[in-house]
Amino acid sequence: SETMTAPAGAPVPSLVPNDLDAMWMPYTANRDFKAAPRLLAEAEGMTYRTPEGRAVLDGTAGLWCVNAGHGRRQIVDAITAQASRMDYAPSFQMGHPLMFEAASRIAAITPSGLDRIFFTNSGSESADTALKIALAYHRARGQGQRTVLIGRERGYHGVGFGGMSVGGIGANRRQFGSLLPKVDHLPHTHDLARNAFSCGLPAHGAELADALDARVALHGADTIAAVIVEPLAGSAGVLLPPQGYLERLRAACDRHGILLIFDEVITGFGRTGANFAAGRFGVTPDILTMAKGLTNAAVPMGAVAVSNAIHDAIVDGAPGGIELFHGYTYSGHPLACAAAIATIDLHRDEDLPGRVRSLEPVWEAAVHSLRTAPNVIDIRNFGLIGAIELSPRPGQPGARAMAVFKRCFAAGVLVRVTGDIVALSPPLIIETPQIERIVSVLGDAITAERD
Ligand code: PLP
Repeated sequence: SETMTAPAGAPVPSLVPNDLDAMWMPYTANRDFKAAPRLLAEAEGMTYRTPEGRAVLDGTAGLWCVNAGHGRRQIVDAITAQASRMDYAPSFQMGHPLMFEAASRIAAITPSGLDRIFFTNSGSESADTALKIALAYHRARGQGQRTVLIGRERGYHGVGFGGMSVGGIGANRRQFGSLLPKVDHLPHTHDLARNAFSCGLPAHGAELADALDARVALHGADTIAAVIVEPLAGSAGVLLPPQGYLERLRAACDRHGILLIFDEVITGFGRTGANFAAGRFGVTPDILTMAKGLTNAAVPMGAVAVSNAIHDAIVDGAPGGIELFHGYTYSGHPLACAAAIATIDLHRDEDLPGRVRSLEPVWEAAVHSLRTAPNVIDIRNFGLIGAIELSPRPGQPGARAMAVFKRCFAAGVLVRVTGDIVALSPPLIIETPQIERIVSVLGDAITAERD
């Protein structure tokens, strides 16, 4: 393999086998990985480099998070400058200027009416924060009996107990026993029989939102606090909302006084061709969670945007003193706030959401060109998101897609797999030739893994 010369003075990352033992890798087949590790050591623009200097085109924006591309100078500089000005300040009972600026900047790009911003450090913390705010809101209004939380099958809201409980991916739950009580789930919207190979949003399935009425009939409307969904489910393998579904879910929540929470941890920050999917789909939730692209993933940060009505009910309704007994040591961390402000500037200056809308037809045609590859049973796309669903190897669920992932990595393209679904979510700065390269490498890998 070719070698890249490291810049003078830069430490060259090294790898010896014993280095692998201490790290218990998250969401990874540790034994499989450590037998043949894949390492990334540098990143710029659309490209990672391995410690040996091999280029890997980033087809997934890291984990759906480096939306503006890697190593953006403005973001790096903002973080560096803040680190030398002030490393840390508490956000309990005091503040620092950047946290207020970051919150105002976020509020300015969220759907109107969602103007109150609570800072967290991750998508998981944002989900748990949103659920706790929903419970506190009902209690503040004298409806403390509203405690049922409703998620959706195949939904992903991170790994905290709240998010895991409303989440609907079986493997993420089964290992951990009984989880939160008083949780229920709507049906997922993945319907290969009716919607396979749809371009953009599928035509069939808006009526699945009416399942909320059945949950209401079962539990009683006055026991349900909130419904939480990803407007477009990413982690489960890109499950798109059928046309009209989110509007219908919004209407059902309104009928029953139930709060609607959108988890926009992956759909936020341009991914769907708008700042948030709520804007692209024209449906406004009561609470909206974000993380990942908020800082372009350069520093961990999450946030929850809350409607003024919910904020005011909790804050103005409190007797005095602390109004919400919730917060994290690193809520509004100065480095993260600096990164978020620089990221929001970049999205505005480069109109990344607009770029996604103009690339969408190119992207759609490219991913759907894989339709004729062997074992492809569905292709889905929206914004700069794509998914290629493969038929599983008999008796070996996920094995085919994992083999495709490894082949792509060896060929210099990073894709992501969930079960037998290959998901694509490149940085929004991608150019057409890079789209073509991702699809061509992926097509070759899928073909090589035919039985
Ligand atoms: N919510 C959604 C929709 C996600 O996709 C993710 C991560 O993929 C999370 C929450 C969890 O975010 P984190 O891993 O930052 O806790």
